[in-house]
Amino acid sequence: MKTISVIIPMYNEEAVAKECYKRITSVLLELTNYDYEIVIVDDGSKDKTLEVIEEIAENDKKLRVISFSRNFGHQAAVTAGLKETTGDAVVIIDADMQDPPELIKDMVDLWEDGNEVVYAVRAKRKGESIFKVLSAKMFYKVLYSLSDVEIPKDTGDFRLVDRKVVDVINSLPEHNKYLRGLFSWVGFKQKPIKYVRKERLAGKTKYPLKKMMKLAYDGIISFSNKPLKLIGSIGLLSIVLSFILLVYSVCSYIFNWNNLVPGWASIMVSISFFAGVQLVSIWIMSEYMSRIYDESRNRPEYIIKKKINEKEE
Ligand code: UDP
Ligand code: MG
Repeated sequence: MKTISVIIPMYNEEAVAKECYKRITSVLLELTNYDYEIVIVDDGSKDKTLEVIEEIAENDKKLRVISFSRNFGHQAAVTAGLKETTGDAVVIIDADMQDPPELIKDMVDLWEDGNEVVYAVRAKRKGESIFKVLSAKMFYKVLYSLSDVEIPKDTGDFRLVDRKVVDVINSLPEHNKYLRGLFSWVGFKQKPIKYVRKERLAGKTKYPLKKMMKLAYDGIISFSNKPLKLIGSIGLLSIVLSFILLVYSVCSYIFNWNNLVPGWASIMVSISFFAGVQLVSIWIMSEYMSRIYDESRNRPEYIIKKKINEKEE
């Protein structure tokens, strides 16, 4: 019998943890031709999430739990889950039930048809702020135009992945993974499936602006070198501009164009403009450099504090 694994990352999800477990379990039980396992990754929750899932895991050996020593972030949690699963197909799903678990059945059917990655595309988003919807739209547009790999728009981590693909992802050594990009990058037979993104069951989003920005940086930096190349174009443009300024100042000296404090404005403008250009360029470079630094330190992406119902080796 084939096994379906489901990964659920959780950060401060005490309000939804139990309901989430129940709904996913009932969907998996309806898939009578398959065995299943659920891997919950507690991403260093500060509330009672771990207690709630520990209690469930005592009575259900199909539920395995990994708990991090602190909050390492959503992508790290999913990465840990991928390493832990043993199933023939692996489903990644959010804990807040914005991604309807009932869709897993359709995903499994498409997988049986020979698709190796079945990814869920958000046709509509419910109960999310205008800011979130717009910023997400803009981000996917920018990433789409910058990246050399085709990364589908409006696609989160909700997807079903074949064991072959999971093994490839597990073997990638890079840190700060942008998983939804990597799943496209690896290739294989991919299939989109549309769904309406629901409202959060309870609780608030665990993705404040800061975490969204990090995810966006990781996405762009790991999939595009174009910002680095942009620095070159900006540099050339500034050289042209400063040349025009040079011609202007020489002319104004020779022809005595302005007789008040000569050249004051043009000097101030050019100094501040070029200082700005340089700082932006350094900023872009340092973003890349900080990723290189992260990779070279080679620290683990996460630290596991505790495992419950561990897999048998
Ligand atoms: N999450 C996590 N670590 C974090 C932030 C979020 O494991 O640092 C989990 C969270 O518990 C949820 C999923 O990632 O299962 C998506 O988070 P959320 O629903 O808050 O994001 P949104 O849907 O608002 O983008
Ligand atoms: Mg959510």
